[in-house]
Amino acid sequence: MNPGNTVLQGRVLETYARQDVTFVSGEGSWLVDDSGTRYLDLVGGIAVVSLGHGHPAPLAAAHAQLERLWHVSNLYWTEPMAELATRLSARFGGAQAFFCNSGTEAVEAALKYARKATGRPGLVALEGSFHGRTMGALSVTGQPAKRAAFGPLVPGVSFATLNDVESLVGAARSDTGAILIEPIQGEGGVHPATPEFLAAARTLADELGALLVFDEVQTGVGRTGSFFCFEQTGVRPDVTTLAKGLANGLPIGALLVSDEAAGAFEPGDHASTFGGNPVACAAACAVVDEITDELLAGVRAKETLVRDAFPQARGCGLLLALDADRPAGEVVQGAFDRGVLVCTAGPETVRLTPPLTISDEELAQGLTVLQEVLAS
Ligand code: PLP
Repeated sequence: MNPGNTVLQGRVLETYARQDVTFVSGEGSWLVDDSGTRYLDLVGGIAVVSLGHGHPAPLAAAHAQLERLWHVSNLYWTEPMAELATRLSARFGGAQAFFCNSGTEAVEAALKYARKATGRPGLVALEGSFHGRTMGALSVTGQPAKRAAFGPLVPGVSFATLNDVESLVGAARSDTGAILIEPIQGEGGVHPATPEFLAAARTLADELGALLVFDEVQTGVGRTGSFFCFEQTGVRPDVTTLAKGLANGLPIGALLVSDEAAGAFEPGDHASTFGGNPVACAAACAVVDEITDELLAGVRAKETLVRDAFPQARGCGLLLALDADRPAGEVVQGAFDRGVLVCTAGPETVRLTPPLTISDEELAQGLTVLQEVLAS
């Protein structure tokens, strides 16, 4: 099969505007297409392939688990699932986990958890946010264009403006059960929440008796230079979602509920056939073990390299963005033509989410190409 053949492409529903390239292999920060051309990957599967393509640790863990056991369902225990929950709890400082298969599912689980825990249906989310495409996650996604064709959505959501405390307080209702925030809005253009705004959200949630939910699907697992982005903000949420980088590319999502907020779900309240899959969890355990202090220091050092080249860059760690003076798609194409992959986060925003393991030389090479494209 040659997916480059347009007839075969016609059998895939058109939900993506895909680049006209078919990748067949990858190693570290490099991808190879079906004609053997190499590309420097500053996308990393959209902040997913954190340790680089084919990293030996998750590869060996997944391989060993593939040989042992693929799936038993959540009617039984498996070691990798329990191990992963233990590791994530340690990183969080005491939490219980529910495992699923994607970020949007982790958000759905968080919305249901907050409803059950508080008994309140109201939700406060932020304009410009992105939480996923299923009906619940879409309902709290503050991008009207993404919601427009799919109403009616889940009722009771009010949207506040990022970093505007007055607007946040104004969006709260007596029936608010959760305040949902990305510490850095990723898809919405890489806009960080200020520590003051997050602290105000913490206070407001406590006053209301609502749960503070941080969606760390994009910012989590080392992406911003700490395991959770919230560690840099001084604000600890009640509930956190993870997905993307957790298993370096195998599908997984996680809902983490702090020990203090745990206990609302009972057997039968929520479920996922594939959630906690042993292969994905084994790979994720290996990823978590690789997110060392040394690796995190490297992420912060590489952020500095990007800022040296682009002082106007927004974001944190290796979740960074630049506003271009032209449609971001043109920059993506220009870089692609020169063998470097970058992606967009809005019409004029170019996003960089390379593997956290990218070398300084590779990053410098990619930044030089980006500078050439933007100067052209
Ligand atoms: N939440 C955030 C913050 C995201 O960035 C994304 C995806 O980009 C999602 C949720 C949805 O995750 P998924 O595409 O894995 O369903």
